[in-house]
Amino acid sequence: DLGLPADAAVAVASAPQLPEPGPTSHKYTRGMVAIVTGAMAGAARLAGIAALRSGAGYVALYGDAGQGGPAAIVHRDYDAEALAESRIGAVLIGPGLGRDTQARDRLTALLAGDRPLVIDGDALHLTDPGSLRARRAPVVLTPHAGEFQALFGTPAGSLLDQARAAAAAAGAIVVLKGATTTVADAARCRVHPHGNPWLSTAGSGDVLAGTIAAQLAHPRADPFAAADAGVWLHARAAAIAGRSFLADDLANALTAVRASA
Ligand code: AMP
Ligand code: MG
Repeated sequence: DLGLPADAAVAVASAPQLPEPGPTSHKYTRGMVAIVTGAMAGAARLAGIAALRSGAGYVALYGDAGQGGPAAIVHRDYDAEALAESRIGAVLIGPGLGRDTQARDRLTALLAGDRPLVIDGDALHLTDPGSLRARRAPVVLTPHAGEFQALFGTPAGSLLDQARAAAAAAGAIVVLKGATTTVADAARCRVHPHGNPWLSTAGSGDVLAGTIAAQLAHPRADPFAAADAGVWLHARAAAIAGRSFLADDLANALTAVRASA
């Protein structure tokens, strides 16, 4: 019993309907994800692997350093022009970004743009949630408890109440991460009790952010459903990865998740 309120807008999450590629699909119709990072590209690479393995057709990583990682991920030097590329379905900013002036400038440029956005990690510390309402394209915020507090102040009420109030205040989709993860927008709320404690490992949140970005990048994505599906896939990957895994293993397990769904 999760003590959920008797409210039609609230439900325990169940297996999502995911888009499948078909004969007319190509890499861009599956969804192109851009990841904007800084000098610590390892976290961004994890997110990129997760994005590709959870459904994206193309991942481009815009940063300053770190050309390593899988050859399937395209690396580009960051410049604001490149992000005008019309085929980008969603942008992820946060993993490996840092919190310096350059990081802030990159976030500001993305917020001014019109692409669906996932904001995670360092970028959450640079975000003024009150400023998001003015944005027309969807925003998904993925804070853990500490980041949530930095964004929205000292929380009151249940996790569910916190996530819903924050989503309503920011006009965004809030993924409040923890042992149970809550996904909320102003109207709906999904509770995910399916994760396991082995998810508490470095890079785990980066994998989640990439997984959500991939779902959001799909041309027909519903942003709330995309966030909800991302959290579901992440928990399933943990079940497949077993115990004492690395975030790399978690990201790699997403292919098996998609194969079994
Ligand atoms: P981060 O703190 O950004 O690395 O994200 C950690 C990820 O692991 C989030 O998706 C959390 O929901 C998940 N996680 C962390 N600890 C636990 C836990 N004890 N049980 C289930 N999931 C967890
Ligand atoms: Mg994190």
